[in-house]
Amino acid sequence: MSNDFHHLLEKYAELAVKVWLNVQTGQRLLLHAPIETAPLARLAAKCAYQSGSPFVEVFWTDGETTRMRYQYAPRTSYDEYSAAFLGGLRVALDRGDALLSISAEDPDLLKGLDEDFIAETAKRTATRFNDLNARIQRNEITWLALGMPSPKWAARVFPQAAPGEQTDKLWEAIFRVCRMFKPDPVAAWQAHIADLKVRCGYMNERGYEALHYTGPGTDLTVYLPRGHQWIGAGETSTRGIFFVPNVPTEEIFTAPDRNRTQGVVTTTKPLVVRGVVIDRVTLAFEEGRVTRIEASNGQDVLERLAATDEGSARLGEVALVPNSNPISQLGITFYNTLFDENSASHLALGRAYPASIAGGGDMNADELIAHGINDSVTHLDFMIGSAEIQIDGIRADGEREAVMRDGEWAFRVVEQ
Ligand code: ZN
Ligand code: ZN
Repeated sequence: MSNDFHHLLEKYAELAVKVWLNVQTGQRLLLHAPIETAPLARLAAKCAYQSGSPFVEVFWTDGETTRMRYQYAPRTSYDEYSAAFLGGLRVALDRGDALLSISAEDPDLLKGLDEDFIAETAKRTATRFNDLNARIQRNEITWLALGMPSPKWAARVFPQAAPGEQTDKLWEAIFRVCRMFKPDPVAAWQAHIADLKVRCGYMNERGYEALHYTGPGTDLTVYLPRGHQWIGAGETSTRGIFFVPNVPTEEIFTAPDRNRTQGVVTTTKPLVVRGVVIDRVTLAFEEGRVTRIEASNGQDVLERLAATDEGSARLGEVALVPNSNPISQLGITFYNTLFDENSASHLALGRAYPASIAGGGDMNADELIAHGINDSVTHLDFMIGSAEIQIDGIRADGEREAVMRDGEWAFRVVEQ
C-alpha cells in the first residue's frame, strides 16, 4: 500500500465518518463489512473512536461463505438468517446508533446457482427484515452505504486493464466521483449538498402534478402525489442528526403516485439484479402497475422480482440526475447500484421512502398507500437518464415546463 493511497483511504474513511455519517460524540457505530474491506473498516472504526464514539461493533460478512450457502445448503433452508445481525440491528435502532455498511460487491457472486432458492431466500429475508428496513428508511438512525473495490468487481469494471491495475483503477474512479481530488473535498461536498438542496426547493415550489419523459424507447408519464417532497443529498434523522446516506449522491428524488404511472420506459445503463447483469430493459406501465417487461437477458429474474408482492410491480422512487455528473463523465459502468443509480436519472420499483411525502415519517404503511406512496419488501433502481432524455413538468392546469433538456437541468437556481 503506497503512502499516497493510504492517505486517500484515510481521507475516504474520514469523509465517511465525519461528514457523510456525521458520527456524534457518545454515539455507537454498527459496522457491517465484508472481510476483504477490513483495511477501510478499521480506518472507519479508528475515526469513529477519535470522534468520540464509545463503541464500534463490527459484523463481518464473506462472499465465499454466502455462495456456499446457495450451493450446498438444503433447498428448504430459505428461512434461515443471521439472528445475531437481526438482533444487533434492532438494538442499534432502539439506541440510535450510526450504521455503516461497506459493500465490495462481486456482481457474479451467485452466478450459475439455483435461482429459485436464491429468489425465495431473498424474499423471505427481505420480509423478515422489513420492519427494520422501514425504520432505517424512516431515518430512525443515521446510516451510510459505502463502496469499496473487490478484485472481481474491479475486473468487471475494467476488463481491459492488467489484472494488477484493475483494483487501483476502481479506487481512483471511486475517489474521483466522491470529489476527493478537489482541493478541499469537504468544501466541495458542502457546495454540492447546497446545490441539490436548492434544486429540491425549486421542484417543491413548482409542485408538478406529473413528469413526462421522452427519449429513445421512452414515453412515460409519472404522476406525483399531492404533498410530495423532493429530497436530496442529506437527510435529518429522527434524532436531529444531518447525514448523507448514499455516496456518491447526485440525485434529487421523491415518490411517484403508485397508481398512476402510464406509458413505456427503456433503461439506459445496465442493472444488477440478484447477481445477474441486465443490459437493457423495457417496462410498460398501466395505472401505476408494470404490465410488460422485456429484457435482453434476465427477464425471468425481473418478472419474479416484480411478482414478489403487491407493491413490487409499482414505482416507489423517481430521481433526477443531470447527465454531466462526475459518475457519468467517467463513462464507466460500476455494475453496482450505489454508483450506477447516481450516474443517471432513475426510477425504482418497490418501496418508497416515507419522507417523500409531507408527514410521511409519521404514517404507517396503510396511510402511506392511501396517499399513493408505495410499499414493498423490494426496491429495484433502474437507470433511464441519458443525453437523449427530455423531461417536462406538467402543472395542475396542464401547462408544461422544461425540467431537463438533453439530460441536463433546464432551470437555473441561485444558491444561497
Ligand atoms: Zn435513487
Ligand atoms: Zn433507489
